[in-house]
Amino acid sequence: MNDTITVVGAGPTGLTAALVLAHHGIQARVLDRRDAASTASRALGLQARSMELLAMLGVADRVEQTAYRLAGSSIMRGERVVARQRWFPPDSPYPYTYVVPQQGLETMLRDRLAELGGAVEWGRAVTGVAADPSGVTLRTAGDGDLRADWVVGADGAGSTIRQAAGIAFPGERTGEVYHLADVRFRSDPDLGDGAMWLGASGPLMLMRLPDDGLWRVFIDVTDEGSAQAVRPDRASLQALLDRRGPGTLEVREVGWTSVFRSRLCLAEAYRSGRLLLAGDAAHVFPPFGGQGMNLGIQDAVGLAWRLARVADGAPPEMLDDYARERRAVAATVIRDVGARRRIFALRHPLARAWRDVMLRVVSASSLAARAASRSTSQIDLSYRTGRRTAAPAPGDRAPDAPLPTGSLHEAFRVDHFALLRIGASPALPPLPEPVTVIDIDDDSDPDGDVRRRYRMDAGLVLVRPDGHIGYRGTDVDSVVAAITASSPTYDRQS
Ligand SMILES: Cc1cc2nc3c(=O)[nH]c(=O)nc-3n(C[C@H](O)[C@H](O)[C@H](O)COP(=O)(O)OP(=O)(O)OC[C@H]3O[C@@H](n4cnc5c(N)ncnc54)[C@H](O)[C@@H]3O)c2cc1C
Repeated sequence: MNDTITVVGAGPTGLTAALVLAHHGIQARVLDRRDAASTASRALGLQARSMELLAMLGVADRVEQTAYRLAGSSIMRGERVVARQRWFPPDSPYPYTYVVPQQGLETMLRDRLAELGGAVEWGRAVTGVAADPSGVTLRTAGDGDLRADWVVGADGAGSTIRQAAGIAFPGERTGEVYHLADVRFRSDPDLGDGAMWLGASGPLMLMRLPDDGLWRVFIDVTDEGSAQAVRPDRASLQALLDRRGPGTLEVREVGWTSVFRSRLCLAEAYRSGRLLLAGDAAHVFPPFGGQGMNLGIQDAVGLAWRLARVADGAPPEMLDDYARERRAVAATVIRDVGARRRIFALRHPLARAWRDVMLRVVSASSLAARAASRSTSQIDLSYRTGRRTAAPAPGDRAPDAPLPTGSLHEAFRVDHFALLRIGASPALPPLPEPVTVIDIDDDSDPDGDVRRRYRMDAGLVLVRPDGHIGYRGTDVDSVVAAITASSPTYDRQS
């Protein structure tokens, strides 16, 4: 019998973790303190790397049916476009930012979970946690205590699990306050998919939502005195837009609103014994670049495939690999988002003038725009610890490539390792766990796409269930060892 797993929090992170576990045949309990599903729009953008993972979970197609593909936005002064942020689609089957409000994504994740036999238990706030060597007791509002072998704390920025685990959440309150609102205008603005004004009081951003005629307003209200503490309404938004935007937009209707106080925090650890953190419970930062929810989804995949194996008897130490890999990635993203925040928050006229010139220069450069698109897409986020090489190495995302019957990514499974046996590679012994062996030769790879993208003519590439490379080389024993330990062998390069 498998260990039992309870996921606390039914946001995008907790639902994704439960879905991965369900693909492994494990029905986790999913508890949420809300009485019903959230209707808050919050995060809007799914990046390429998240979509690749959601494809393995059977959710990306649903996203594509309702989301639209964001293809850049404009930096404005009044009604004039001063720079255009161009999008260079990265090498991914999902090469855009897919705009879908968070509650829509959560519905899709829950629907998929229901298809696999899972469900959220609403109205079950976890109020107390007691971990002992053999398991965890969760005190919950609702039916009282319950017991689990492992607990995933996907319970957001104020995480009860993080606090119970005694994990510190150090960081910085940066002082900015933003108002967010989903609004309809009297007439639809002619602003493409999105636009940003960088004035003397910080940024104002507008982004089109998939729902016809609905726009997200995001505005820095730090300098607005006591008005910043009050939720935005039609009059306050109209006044701010008149003063800080094009001056031609008339707000007709206001839907969801929120006040967001900027801080950048990263949990000191992602694991304490049987308690594990993922998503906003482990990291929070402002939404510049639409990275937060995406990190949570990717945390969930990185954690849950390992937890499934641990629940099945694999050594729990492999959960430390999750913590090491994902915490390092979050630290990198927080650094990048922090830099964007500082640039957008500039107040001094000279600093702003310099920034605006730099933004124009960077926007005009294809090289810089290409790099920005790749960075936003998160496909380059890597767990690599060795030196940088041009060839995809252990820790990197496994690139996609066409196959006569589809593509490599379509052959990857969140409950399987994939082993690419490229060219005249060694014979394989019986392999220890579910592994999909994909032979790459002149028949299966007639144009050499796979071999070119992996920069390998002969050898073995082991792809983990989270779509990252676990081993690359020619040593069959190392492949077997990597699968057995479910831990990447970083130091062997071909
Ligand atoms: C206003 C706003 C705008 C944002 N915009 C973007 C964006 O454009 N792009 C982007 O990528 N990210 C954005 N984010 C961030 C994004 O919303 C979060 O990163 C994302 O929601 C994190 O998902 P999560 O599942 O980790 O946590 P959450 O979505 O916070 O989910 C946590 C869940 O846990 C439940 N819970 C909490 N405590 C308990 C408890 N004790 N017991 C049981 N259940 C509990 C909550 O009810 C909730 O359902 C935005 C955030 C905000 C606030």
